[in-house]
Amino acid sequence: MNFVPKHPRTAISGALFDAAAKVIPGGVNSTARATWSGWTPYPLFVAKGSGSQLEDVDGNVYTDYLLGLGPMILGHRPPEVTRAVVDFIETRGTVFALPTADEATLADKIVAAVPSVEQVRLCNTGTEAVLYATRLARAFTGRRKIVRFEGMYHGFSDGVYWSKHPSIPAAGPDSSPRPVAQGPGLPAGVEQNLIILPWNDPEVLRAVLKTQGHEIAAVLTEPVMCNTGCILPEPGYLEAMREATREAGALLIFDEVITGFRLALGGAQERLRVTPDLSVFAKGLGGGFPVAALGGRREIMALVSDGRVSMAGTYTANGIAVAAANATLDILARPRFYGDLDAVSDQLRHGLQAVFDAAALPARVVGIGPLMQVWFTTHAIRNYRDAERFADQGLFDLWWRGMLARGVLFHPGAYENLFVSSAHTTADIEATLDAARDVAAELSR
Ligand code: PLP
Repeated sequence: MNFVPKHPRTAISGALFDAAAKVIPGGVNSTARATWSGWTPYPLFVAKGSGSQLEDVDGNVYTDYLLGLGPMILGHRPPEVTRAVVDFIETRGTVFALPTADEATLADKIVAAVPSVEQVRLCNTGTEAVLYATRLARAFTGRRKIVRFEGMYHGFSDGVYWSKHPSIPAAGPDSSPRPVAQGPGLPAGVEQNLIILPWNDPEVLRAVLKTQGHEIAAVLTEPVMCNTGCILPEPGYLEAMREATREAGALLIFDEVITGFRLALGGAQERLRVTPDLSVFAKGLGGGFPVAALGGRREIMALVSDGRVSMAGTYTANGIAVAAANATLDILARPRFYGDLDAVSDQLRHGLQAVFDAAALPARVVGIGPLMQVWFTTHAIRNYRDAERFADQGLFDLWWRGMLARGVLFHPGAYENLFVSSAHTTADIEATLDAARDVAAELSR
């Protein structure tokens, strides 16, 4: 591996942050990069990325499991994607406000890949795609309420930016949480269209669909909970969700912004074998370029076909996004792609668990494929409240700092994930496990 400082010097990052904070609120352009999201005393400023490695402006090089919070499934600067985008820009342009043949090529690939998707529309971000999915569900069913789960994140639009990480017990009883706005500025009253539930509890969901089903347009869920660390669905839970929504005449929306094109070419729905009505994709789809998609059953998408539900946008399906997604999907569709990605990811997950076990640390490494997080607890974590009650955030912070100091980068938040890319090698994982052994020894002292 490259230079791995024991104590990274980050003075240039610090100076850049001070300068940025004068003109950019909080010094950063997304909450997840802010000091209050864990990047203390300041976030690292990036010089460049290459494959599985990221270099900061002070010249420290890290093995990168942050991976842009998910889009870099092929690692940084994947040559085929870069070339496709550059070719498109140089020979054809960027934005036309008219369709290109490439868009239908991309739609064909998505429809072929994802079990539930018969038709698909592009947009730019996961936030937009979720907004459209919920609008479409309301239009299709003629109902107004959306069920969403405490601890999940579905983007920052007013309609769903509730109960992401509320404080407990102020958020109400475990089985019937009340909606809590994710900060001021959300219009009061919007929450009357939401029902907040604990995840991984089929009985609570069934009961709500039974009593309030006539008002519920959709159940919106990540198929794997990725915004409160990594929490897997318990066996039968997604199936119960599918059955109960169908009985109630409500739609099932999978937010596959993180899981899509990551757990399999057909996303979590292929890997876990549960078929939603509508699905939302983003991060993995574009190989690092901003593109998202909403797809689903033809009869629901028909509302978009005839313009009853509008999906618009100056930049939707722009040339850069479409070229990047077409090139990315061609790579993801190669026969050994997911087998190889899983193998290297499993090496990390099992390796980390073995390191913690050997050090007698109370830690569980939970994940599926190239997606994982470490919970510092001996309790099983089934939902957000378990995480709040049982996970040791202080220990996570020490773990994060120890790993960063040894050249291993991931998000400082225990509720984020470690991502693995196809650029990560067995040698990368071995070096990461060496670092983890060192840190675990320190933590168990
Ligand atoms: N849905 C999920 C599950 C996400 O994790 C995110 C972002 O992290 C979003 C939606 C929002 O996507 P975007 O940041 O592209 O707006």
